[in-house]
Amino acid sequence: MGKLLSWVVLIALAWLVIRLFAISQRRRERAGDSAASAGASGGTSTSRREASDAPDRALEGEPIVPCAHCGLFVPASDAVREDGFDYCSPAHRDADRVQRRSRSRDGRAPS
Ligand SMILES: [Zn+2]
Repeated sequence: MGKLLSWVVLIALAWLVIRLFAISQRRRERAGDSAASAGASGGTSTSRREASDAPDRALEGEPIVPCAHCGLFVPASDAVREDGFDYCSPAHRDADRVQRRSRSRDGRAPS
């Protein structure tokens, strides 16, 4: 009887391990996917402060990107992207485009 009980425990443990493994593998798959897309955006040289320290993702698998104009953090799926910059809205994309053109290659803004 004791042997049967140990078998049941063993099977239950094995099932648990398989389940945990499958879950972690799926999570890793999603994380790697978002990391690859987040790595594409780089060089926010004209941002006022260290905006690069942004939280990579608030929700699971959803990268959060800072607006290059106002610094607001938005989900990458909601962001408006242009020239490698992310914006919270089309209005800020247009505003920043005008601003960038006016200060052409001034580099850094006095803070
Ligand atoms: Zn904005």
